[in-house]
Amino acid sequence: MLDLFMEYVYKKKGHDFSPYIYPQNSLFPFQSVKRITTARLIVISAVFFVLFDNLAFFRDVIEVYPVSWDNMGFLASLAVGLTSVIALLLVFVSSKYTIKPILILTLFVSSIASYFMNNYRVIIDQTMIQNIFATDVKEAVDLFSFKLVLYVLFLGLLPSLWVYGVEVRYGTTKSEFISRLKVVAISLAVILFSVLIFSKFYTSFLREHKPLRYRTNPTYSLYSMGKYINNRLKNQNIELKQIGEDAKIPATDTDRELIIVVIGEAARMDRFSLNGYRRETNPLLKEEDVISLRNVRSCGTSTKLSLPCMFSIYGRDSYSEKKGKTTENLLDVLRHAGVDVLWRDNNSDSKGVALRVQYENYKTPKTNPICDEECRDEGMLEGLQEYIDGQTQGDILIVLHQMGNHGPAYYKRYPKSFEKFKPTCQTNQLNECSNEAINNAYDNAILYTDYFLYKTIGLLKQNDGKFETAMIYLSDHGESLGEKGLYLHGIPYSIAPDEQKRIAALFWLGDSFKAHKKLLKDKVNTEYSHENFFHTVLGLLEVNTSLYDKKKDIVNSNE
Ligand SMILES: [Zn+2]
Repeated sequence: MLDLFMEYVYKKKGHDFSPYIYPQNSLFPFQSVKRITTARLIVISAVFFVLFDNLAFFRDVIEVYPVSWDNMGFLASLAVGLTSVIALLLVFVSSKYTIKPILILTLFVSSIASYFMNNYRVIIDQTMIQNIFATDVKEAVDLFSFKLVLYVLFLGLLPSLWVYGVEVRYGTTKSEFISRLKVVAISLAVILFSVLIFSKFYTSFLREHKPLRYRTNPTYSLYSMGKYINNRLKNQNIELKQIGEDAKIPATDTDRELIIVVIGEAARMDRFSLNGYRRETNPLLKEEDVISLRNVRSCGTSTKLSLPCMFSIYGRDSYSEKKGKTTENLLDVLRHAGVDVLWRDNNSDSKGVALRVQYENYKTPKTNPICDEECRDEGMLEGLQEYIDGQTQGDILIVLHQMGNHGPAYYKRYPKSFEKFKPTCQTNQLNECSNEAINNAYDNAILYTDYFLYKTIGLLKQNDGKFETAMIYLSDHGESLGEKGLYLHGIPYSIAPDEQKRIAALFWLGDSFKAHKKLLKDKVNTEYSHENFFHTVLGLLEVNTSLYDKKKDIVNSNE
């Protein structure tokens, strides 16, 4: 096809046509480089993509970060960083025989993506790709326009012809490898330095302005395409591995247990005054007989990873997202044992943990009666007594998934009456706030959690005669608040700082657990992790199952 086109062009221009030797320079004035290395071709292409195919991206970026002296460095680093990311991706798919076809294909895809993003402000995501594949001829004709032809001509065809015609100089395998290694090293260094130097910007860019990323071209459209294909390939029904089918409450356990598990959000161990924090962040809990553990580590540094992991039978070392999805979890085991399980959620959702138990969304005023600028965690306690009264027999486990200290808009996480530490950062753009203001807002949110847990304990106390009651509070992960220039969480575990891994964890035990309470007080400095949670809950509910490992049960183990 291209050959025919070239032949046509050359004949028109009066050249003697030879299918193998194209007169360089004559076709395009900018084709002055006659023979270039693969590395150079990759870099030139990456620069082209950033300059010509990312107008929609930069237009939206500038809306959020207007061109100003303060933002200049970040904007420049973004352009250079994006070039590096694209170069990096190209290096990995550019063997001698694939580089040209891949570049040409990518140029065409990006030119079309550019057209739709610039003119319709769409995002080329998985759904869009799905739609494209489902489009029939008539719909395609409707989308066709002269402008589209121009996009494909100038951003797709012309640069593709250049790529096609340019003579790539291949060195020995060794020198090719070394030159690629250089591209990889330089790209990685550029990305790393950009992120380090402008860390506050990148934190808000990556967290708060996710949709911006979706407009990078061709990265996001190719990513969506890959995801689409991948999903199509593995779209068979995933089989769920059942575990703990032997679980049961022994006949000897005639007492009824009522356990409330509160899953905290991004709450750091060292921000609880119970654990020695210099500020009074636990004025209410300190009056209660709670036991705060000071040495507990999370399974991951994000909700998405930590939450399913803490409810799974697997420890951090053997856990994987796939195992989490395909194996039953703690709640399923409790279900097998006949425990009544309820999950109330005021965070994003249960990340798949509560798929097979009763689940209630408390992020909406429809269910949550305590909402002002957002729905409050304490709203999850409303009507809970009626729910408990409605269960006339057996044990009850209630999970309350908090909004807690969800960043970066910490200032939104508590009602105004909890604004004790001032001034506070009043925006989700952390780069606009001092560290002090960010930390103040974070601590106020802890103060609100203190109040929420205090109220939860109050509810359990009301039921202490009828039930054996206990509360476990456990955060999903920690949070960086400017230490080492880092903010929020989600750093890969192996390199994540302690602030993101050492989590707030505490117990409140009702009167029937007196003996346990004494034992537990000796364990406040013992090393624990999310892995202990599974066995601790089984122990508290006195569930009999071969899965139970007493050594990992924080409350019942003798160590
Ligand atoms: Zn989280």
